[in-house]
Amino acid sequence: MIDLRSDTVTKPTPAMLDAMVKAPLGDDVWGDDPTVNRLEAMAAELLAKEAAIYVSSGTQSNLVALLSHCQRGDEYIVGQDAHTYQYEGGGAAVLGSIQPQPLTVEKNGTIELEHIRQSIKPDDVHFAHTRLLCLENTATGRVLPMEYIEQASKLAEDNGLKIHLDGARVYNAAVKLGIDVKDISQYFDSVSVCLSKGLGAPIGSVLCGSAELISKARRWRKMLGGGMRQAGVIAAAGIYALENNIERLREDHDNAALLGQELAQIEEVHVDLEMLQTNMVFMTPLKGGIEELATSLQRKDILVDARKTIRLVTHLQVSREDILTTVSAIKDFYQGSS
Ligand SMILES: *Cc1c(COP(=O)(O)O)cnc(C)c1O
Repeated sequence: MIDLRSDTVTKPTPAMLDAMVKAPLGDDVWGDDPTVNRLEAMAAELLAKEAAIYVSSGTQSNLVALLSHCQRGDEYIVGQDAHTYQYEGGGAAVLGSIQPQPLTVEKNGTIELEHIRQSIKPDDVHFAHTRLLCLENTATGRVLPMEYIEQASKLAEDNGLKIHLDGARVYNAAVKLGIDVKDISQYFDSVSVCLSKGLGAPIGSVLCGSAELISKARRWRKMLGGGMRQAGVIAAAGIYALENNIERLREDHDNAALLGQELAQIEEVHVDLEMLQTNMVFMTPLKGGIEELATSLQRKDILVDARKTIRLVTHLQVSREDILTTVSAIKDFYQGSS
């Protein structure tokens, strides 16, 4: 099976499982799971923040961040296509009474600074208090330009806003730019990082920020039912991921580039090369339907994410050979149907 639907589909390797089996454990709600404590200290150090908290998912991480930054009746500025806004069940509104102010995301994954500036509400009884700016990096595979991040951070600071990064795939951005993740995290008050995407852990995210923010997040996490007991058994996989799987993201990027390059030569499909910056390839059939192509690939044990376009995501369980097999299968589909 070649599973290109997402980088969330990876299964723990024997070495990762071994680390999980050997992890020393305790009750993390009491603060005495040494493995969770180690993971949190490690994440805080890697992102150069005072503290970190281990959470069950990226959704929970973003939610506790929003709940910790904002009060009932506050507002956060967010991309129209951002995960935090589109794909988290409206959690900030449902559970925090925090109003989103969604703004258009440009083709390069940024939100125009002028647009952000104009959306910050004045102190007036008509308006919600604009409290937070939320960015995403990578944003659907795109790496935000560092200059943009710096300017967005300054704009937030100048206007008394906090700034949160949904950095589910921030390591893909850092590896792509060849910089330390700290160079990105320094511009944010909080950063959420998924361990369960390209980094290859089965479960979990970390939220990093000031000690004050993270202690608020700890209260919210407990309230949301996210206080886990001997969580070291899964946190060990996160430690393993941070120790072993960061630099290798480059291989995923190389494989995605190869896939994009090969697919671009098939005249029946269009590949969005502007979106192809890290580990995601977006392809639209110019001939025949998305469904038909996806079904034909599935018959050959190749899984893709088929919606308005076809998304193919590389990860640590997709090899260069799998890429070539996939390209051949797509070529065969068109040759067979012509
Ligand atoms: C996957 C993802 C999340 C949420 O992570 P889950 O662990 O699936 O809840 C948040 N933001 C972005 C950009 C993501 O890709």
